[in-house]
Amino acid sequence: MPAFAALLDGYRRFRAGPYVEQRDRFDALAFGGQAPRVMVIACVDSRVDPTRIFDSAPGEMFVMRNVANLVPPYEADGATHGSSAAIEFAVTQLEVDHIVVMGHARCGGIAASLSGKFDGAAEGQGAFIGRWMHHIDPARDQIRAAAALSPDVDAQEALELAAIRLSLANLRTFPFVAERCAAGRLGLQGAHFGISDGVLRVLDHATGHFAPVPFGWT
Ligand SMILES: [Zn+2]
Repeated sequence: MPAFAALLDGYRRFRAGPYVEQRDRFDALAFGGQAPRVMVIACVDSRVDPTRIFDSAPGEMFVMRNVANLVPPYEADGATHGSSAAIEFAVTQLEVDHIVVMGHARCGGIAASLSGKFDGAAEGQGAFIGRWMHHIDPARDQIRAAAALSPDVDAQEALELAAIRLSLANLRTFPFVAERCAAGRLGLQGAHFGISDGVLRVLDHATGHFAPVPFGWT
C-alpha cells in the first residue's frame, strides 16, 4: 500500500515541522475550542483544497466538501442530510460571519451533470452521483439549451458558475441563514478556482459576474 505509506510519511513531516511550529495554536484550539469565522463549501476534488488556496491556519476555516460543492435546498423532511447538518452547525453553533461556496474548473461532477453520464445509473455504478447532481438539473437544462443555440458557450464553465449561484440561492432557503443574512450578521460569497491558471474569481453580487481577484505583493 505505497499510497498509505506516503500518507504516514506526510504525517511524520507534519509532526516534525508544522505541528511543532504551531504548537501554541493547537493547544489553544484544543483547550479553547474552535471559533472559525468562515465556512467554505468546496468540491471533494483533490486539486482544490481550500486551506491551501486561501493559505489558512488550523482553526481558521470550517470546511465542508462534497461532490461539485453543492448546497441542497432546505428540506425539513426528517431524512438524513449530511451537508445540511454541517451548514446548520457552522451557522447556528459556530456563528460564522461568512459562507463561501467555491467551485472550480474541470469539475467532474459538473461534467457528469452535463453529459448525463449517471442519470438513472444502477446502484454502485453512479446512482448516488446521479441523484446528487439532480440538484442542478434546472441550470443544466438551461445551459444545454443555450449551448445548442450558440457554439461559443462554454457549457462546462457556465454550469460550474451557475451551480455556485444556485447553491447560494439554496443557502438562503435555510431559515437560520436567511435570518442572519437579513440582520447583516452573515455574508454569502461565491468563488471559482481555475486550477491551471491559479485564478480565483469572486462573484460580484451587484453585477452577477465573477471577477478575478488581483494578486501580487503590495
Ligand atoms: Zn469538482
